[in-house]
Amino acid sequence: MATEAVHMTALHESVHGAVEPVAGEVTSVVRRHRSLARFGAVLVDLAYFERFPIAFARYVAGAPQARSAWGDTFHEKGPTQLLEALLRRVRDGRASAQAGGPGREQVLAVCLGLASHLAVDVVSHPLVHRIAHVRSHALGTSEAQEHQVIEKFQSAIFHERYHGRDLLGRSIYFDYLDVPALEMINDDRFWRLLSECMRESLGRAPMRDEMRAWARGYRQYARIVSSPMGRLVATSRAKEEAFDVLYRGKDFNYDDVFDEARSRSRAYVEAAYAYGHGDVDRDDLEAAIPRQTPDPVHENGIWIP
Ligand SMILES: [Zn+2]
Repeated sequence: MATEAVHMTALHESVHGAVEPVAGEVTSVVRRHRSLARFGAVLVDLAYFERFPIAFARYVAGAPQARSAWGDTFHEKGPTQLLEALLRRVRDGRASAQAGGPGREQVLAVCLGLASHLAVDVVSHPLVHRIAHVRSHALGTSEAQEHQVIEKFQSAIFHERYHGRDLLGRSIYFDYLDVPALEMINDDRFWRLLSECMRESLGRAPMRDEMRAWARGYRQYARIVSSPMGRLVATSRAKEEAFDVLYRGKDFNYDDVFDEARSRSRAYVEAAYAYGHGDVDRDDLEAAIPRQTPDPVHENGIWIP
């Protein structure tokens, strides 16, 4: 997973940003259902937050993280198929309130966030894998561990520059990250639709209580990294040291990666909107959002702000 803050920022920038934002009608949907779009932007990462406090303690102690089978399932079995399954229900009206769904526009907003998530993963993972591969050989660590360190510093440094200050460890960071995941899962209409879509696209769906636990873990994550403990994640000194190694190298610059993620996010969000709205057909959707091939070193069971 790219870090959750990156997903939030990429969604915001592609929809509301000054540089090539999405079409006006798309912005309106996200504006009306902002928290649902934000929920969509982290939906496939939620499983990584199960038992977050334990993961955080391991992380601070420098211990490797446990893998998340569900996190891997979401990313490998077909996050694009999940998006398609949700969009089909927007398109044919099964998501509507009359049909017993949570509402077409509500589900569409979740889809737009999910589309943005997929765009960011597709753009940012190749570089992370490449650096992780080289570093794990040089340092005798695992690629998964390196993946975690690289994404953490890229996000921490990027956001410090983006906001003009570091938000880690500050209370406003909570609102930056928090999403109504628990509320959505507790909503019967939404849960019915989501679990049906998960079964259709992933071949199975988590139990509702299991997913509630992920949602609680996600909220704990938002709480912990926005509390003074959040400062343990990346100190100024560590960020300084990481800058020339993980943020800018001889042949990469994370600023460019983010720019590309933002424009890919815009393209995915617009394609998802057009398909959900019935403006284009399935081939157009697949051409715009290709089915993802699994990552060579896949998602690891980690969280990073
Ligand atoms: Zn992801």
